[in-house]
Amino acid sequence: MAKILIVDDNTAIRDVIKIHLMMAGHEVIEAENGRQGVEMATEHQPDLVILDVMMPEMDGMEACSQIRTDPACAAVYVIMLSARGETSDKVDGLNTGADAYLTKPFEPDELIAQVNAGLRTAEDRRQAMYDLLTGLFNRRAFDDLMHRELSLRDRHGHGLSMVMIDLDHFKAVNDTYGHHAGDAVLRDLADILREVCRPSDLPCRWGGEEFACLLPQTDLENALKVGERLRAAIEAHDFPEVGKVTASLGISQAGPEENEESFCKRADEALYRAKEGGRNRIEAATSA
Ligand code: GH3
Ligand code: MG
Ligand code: MG
Repeated sequence: MAKILIVDDNTAIRDVIKIHLMMAGHEVIEAENGRQGVEMATEHQPDLVILDVMMPEMDGMEACSQIRTDPACAAVYVIMLSARGETSDKVDGLNTGADAYLTKPFEPDELIAQVNAGLRTAEDRRQAMYDLLTGLFNRRAFDDLMHRELSLRDRHGHGLSMVMIDLDHFKAVNDTYGHHAGDAVLRDLADILREVCRPSDLPCRWGGEEFACLLPQTDLENALKVGERLRAAIEAHDFPEVGKVTASLGISQAGPEENEESFCKRADEALYRAKEGGRNRIEAATSA
């Protein structure tokens, strides 16, 4: 069942849309202005948003651009639905990041068909961005997010750090307990990452049994604290079937002009030193 967020200040319109969506088999959540819509999109991560344009507190244009910059909503499909039907309104809406623009009054059949087409696109986007096993961002999505965060780091002015995590002796886990148990460890590790990190952090599956987490607005000192919390949480966790598993971690903070490649490489080198130093430990890279 797809989850759809309706954002409209008009209760009667929300009710009509809701009935049609529910009859089409979808789950519906509602917000009554743009600000609430953005909050609900972040919190509930719907598959699709139907967004009114003229609303109190925050209009649909601003809400759309905020949703578009939220990594938690990266795959969401946005349909603007507005009484404003000039060509310039449609152009503005689509340029703000909406995927489709429909006008009121609307034909329910057309809206549902657009919703179903949008859901297919949202699913394609999801599959291109998320790792199937763990549900974390995949490497490709991570690269895009890193590129964006690096371009934003100076505006925030609080630093951008990264933690690289590699499970210790994981080959032995697979050899002893089987690949299936190994997969379960990787899924548990993803849960630990989601629990320990802040909502604004960006964990991903880097590949195999390696994970990486971008920490926006975090300097090296605070990144070390996050890394140590992660290391301790992994060490403390009882993995079903397998028991205890540890990880080694490497940390880097992006330098002022540093590119993606060097930022990752320094975290990876620090991780290598953590392995060399005996594993189940964390090492920080020297500054770029
Ligand atoms: P080290 O402490 O040096 O990191 O040793 P390691 O055994 O963890 O490292 P190595 O790179 O030798 O082996 C990584 C292992 O991770 C081997 C591979 O089978 C396993 N692995 C990679 N991806 C997956 C996966 O998707 N599922 C499972 N179950 N295992 C995986
Ligand atoms: Mg390993
Ligand atoms: Mg590895």
